[in-house]
Amino acid sequence: MFHTADPDEILSGKITDVYFERALKILNAKKINPVVRAEFIAKGLPEGWPWAVFAGMEEAAYLMKRLPVRVRAMREGTVFYPYEPVMEIEGRYRDFCVYETAILGLVCQASGIATKAARIKKLAGGRPVVSFGARRMHPVLAPMIERNAYVGGCDGVAVVKSGEIIGEDPMGTMPHALIICMGSTIDAIKAYDEVLEPRFPRVALIDTFLDEKFECLNVAEAMGKRLFAVRFDTPSSRRGNFYRILEECRWELHLRGYDHIRFYASGGIKEEDMPGLNPVVDGYGIGTSISNAPVVDYAMDIIEVEGKPLAKRGKWSGSKRVLRCPKCGTGKIVPNVAGSYKCSCGKKFTDILIPVLDKGKQLMKAETASEIRKRVIKNVRNLTLE
Ligand SMILES: [Zn+2]
Repeated sequence: MFHTADPDEILSGKITDVYFERALKILNAKKINPVVRAEFIAKGLPEGWPWAVFAGMEEAAYLMKRLPVRVRAMREGTVFYPYEPVMEIEGRYRDFCVYETAILGLVCQASGIATKAARIKKLAGGRPVVSFGARRMHPVLAPMIERNAYVGGCDGVAVVKSGEIIGEDPMGTMPHALIICMGSTIDAIKAYDEVLEPRFPRVALIDTFLDEKFECLNVAEAMGKRLFAVRFDTPSSRRGNFYRILEECRWELHLRGYDHIRFYASGGIKEEDMPGLNPVVDGYGIGTSISNAPVVDYAMDIIEVEGKPLAKRGKWSGSKRVLRCPKCGTGKIVPNVAGSYKCSCGKKFTDILIPVLDKGKQLMKAETASEIRKRVIKNVRNLTLE
């Protein structure tokens, strides 16, 4: 058997830390069930990130729409900062107590992946980025990981099922195994060209048997104009100076008139590698950096009980509004009472914590992964990474 929960176990509250189950037992015995509001906030972000992208809400709403609670949240793909609540649940505590573990898990991991993807996409400076990291994680998570990599900004995903979820064709080139089975890089790209539908770009992997430079020239000569790109997946033990390898290959191809051939780089590429590689790379396959992104450590805290502000030490009590200036992006957190606020730039703030669910009724309009992705790319355009 796979060591994973099935969806019914998540929806029935079985994926819970046992202390919630015990708390529920005690509250039931004592007939205590206050109406509370609980917020989800991150007091800090991993790796010194100055901002993060909220994600995982579609799945969290799928879980919470079965519960008699009201939910306000940021839309998926909203950029947020530490201390801004990203979500607030209002309801009788016993009705949602055992779901805290699962809801946090849904938004913590998704937000980490979406944020990492947004950072990588920014670093790629307009070059396409494809998520290649499904193989580093439990397969049951692959579609979730790649969906969030895509909404964060990746241009494509590698896994077939992930493609179905985001409504796009999955992307990929060829594995080393194909070349090894066929015995030659040239035979492999020729067979690729012969067998696969023309809509798949002809991309040859050129680090299997020979030096990258000579293999580049081999496939360029064999394929001519039909060759769209070459992919460098050079093992780290052979990389030396990866930039210089790519630069040299460019030079040699240019001398022979093969300027149309694009360069894709993959294989353990990290954020810090990208600015240096960008001048010689046209596109990236990014694996572990995205699929193993750090999680955003949201906590769920009760901040109001029976209409009265009340929170543990270290947390701000009371329900809050999160405001954002649509012009300059300035943020503001204010108590959740009516009133309008103006930014110092003169523009009126808008609320970014908005109603999502009211006891099973969906209040926020559903968006496609592609719509969310477009918003993320636009929202992070003018942000810095440090
Ligand atoms: Zn402003």
